[in-house]
Amino acid sequence: ETEAGTLRVSDLHVSYGRSVQALHGVSLTVPQGRIVAVLGSNGAGKSTLLRAVSGTLALHRGTVDSGTVHFDGVRLRGDATRSVAAGVVQVPEGRRIFGALSVEDNLKAGFLGSARRSRAELRADRDRVFTQFPVLAERRRQAAGLMSGGEQQMLAMGRALMAGPRLLLLDEPSLGLAPLMVRRIAEIIREINAQGTSILLVEQNAAMALELSDRASVLDVGQVRLEGASADLAAADEVRRLYLGES
Ligand code: ATP
Repeated sequence: ETEAGTLRVSDLHVSYGRSVQALHGVSLTVPQGRIVAVLGSNGAGKSTLLRAVSGTLALHRGTVDSGTVHFDGVRLRGDATRSVAAGVVQVPEGRRIFGALSVEDNLKAGFLGSARRSRAELRADRDRVFTQFPVLAERRRQAAGLMSGGEQQMLAMGRALMAGPRLLLLDEPSLGLAPLMVRRIAEIIREINAQGTSILLVEQNAAMALELSDRASVLDVGQVRLEGASADLAAADEVRRLYLGES
C-alpha cells in the first residue's frame, strides 16, 4: 500500500490545558484523491482533529499528547508552515476573511501561498482561482466584507487554493449558508477533488457530507464511533437517527 499523497492519522490524543481531553485515540486515513468526511455533533472534536493535521493546534493552546500524523510518508509535527510546505492546507472555520480588504487583496494575503512565490506565479495562481470562481473575478475590487456568506466561503476556498494544496482541509464549509449555496459549495468541492486534490471535510451537515465523500468517520466525544463507506453510513440506522434527523 502506497503512502504517496495519503494522510494517515494514528491513535491521536489531544488536550487543551490540563483538564480538557478533546481526542482520545483517533485514527483516520485519507487516501490520495479521495474525499473523506468527519461528522459529529458540537464538541465532538472535529475542529481539533483538523487543527492537529494543519499544525494550528498550538494557536489554540492545544497539544498532541500522543499519536502521529503522516502525510505523503512524512511525519507532520504540529507546525503549520511544514504542513503547508507538504501540501496540506486548511480553510478555517468561520472563513477568516479580511472584511475591509478587497477580494483580490484577500487572495494575495493568503500568507500560505505568497511566501516563496514570484509576482508572476502569484498572478497565475490568482487567475486560476478567478477561473474557478468567476464571482470573485467580478468582485475583485470590492471589499470582501460586503459579499454574501457563500461568496465569502468561496473566497476562503480560493485563498487556500492559492497555496496549491494536495490535501485540502475544510471546516464546516456549509455553515450558515442557504440550501442553494450549500449545493454550489458541494459542486465546487467536487470540482476541486476532480482536479486532483484530496479532501478532508468536517461537516455538521451530514447529508451533504455523506453525499460528497467516499468514506466517513463519525466522531463522538473525541472517539471514532463509526467508520465506513459513506453510502453504507448513510443507510445505517444510527446515522439516520442521530445525524440525518430521521426518526
Ligand atoms: P464544533 O462543531 O462545535 O466546533 P467540534 O466537533 O469541532 O465542535 P472541537 O471544537 O474540536 O469540537 O472541541 C472538542 C472539545 O475540545 C470540546 O469539549 C471543546 O470545548 C474543547 N475545546 C476546543 N477548543 C478549545 C480550546 N481552545 N481550549 C479549551 N478547550 C477547547
